[in-house]
Amino acid sequence: LRKAIIAGNWKMNKNRKEAAELINALKPIAADKTCGVIICVPFTNLETALSLTEGTNIEVGAENVHFEKSGAFTGEISADMLTEMGVKYVIVGHSERRQYFGETDETVNKRTTAAIEAGMTVILCVGETLAERELGITEEVVAKQVKVALHGLTADQVKNIVIAYEPVWAIGTGKTATAEQAEEVCAFIRATVASLYDQAIANGMTIQYGGSMNEKNCAELLAKENIDGGLIGGASLVAEKFGVLLAEA
Ligand code: 13P
Repeated sequence: LRKAIIAGNWKMNKNRKEAAELINALKPIAADKTCGVIICVPFTNLETALSLTEGTNIEVGAENVHFEKSGAFTGEISADMLTEMGVKYVIVGHSERRQYFGETDETVNKRTTAAIEAGMTVILCVGETLAERELGITEEVVAKQVKVALHGLTADQVKNIVIAYEPVWAIGTGKTATAEQAEEVCAFIRATVASLYDQAIANGMTIQYGGSMNEKNCAELLAKENIDGGLIGGASLVAEKFGVLLAEA
């Protein structure tokens, strides 16, 4: 029905030498796995990652993209710059960007649109904060994030979107959502996509869970009907741990 994808989000980790070591360790581990395998790496590691993964089943993604095509945007990287290198995936709207770098639902929409128009696949991150969960407004928050992010995208374009549900309170905290909590929101996201497009589009969409997902807790999360893989931070930095996730997906 739909593809399970395990994506690593390296965040701001690994110099070039460390990146090469990790990828070389990952290659034989990933080779016989049936799920989609993506590593999203810092811009400075993209070239290393692309060349080392050539001819393997490991795909390479960036961690952010700017929404303008070119111009006076010091420090930014466009979607065309990424696709020219051969980068096909990009994370958009990660909570760390929303928290520390002024990312809003509107800029997430602009980045998503730019990346999709450039032919990329977007891993779109959504998720509530602890305060929002405690207020009981998780669904409201996540529905708005999804609706605004996808605004203006056609049904055909949405086929190139993966949504990652990452509750902010579970990221880097060691506090994973329970499989039931994660399944509940992933199912809600699927229903939201169905309401915006149609059930077939929603059924075909890969929806991941992310937030302290690791080699120990992944089996229970991945067994859930609406959880189609994961977006993995810390555990993606160690080949053997990432390998367990790939085997379970
Ligand atoms: P951790 O797996 O380190 O909690 O990070 C999750 C995440 O933010 C992936 O994008």
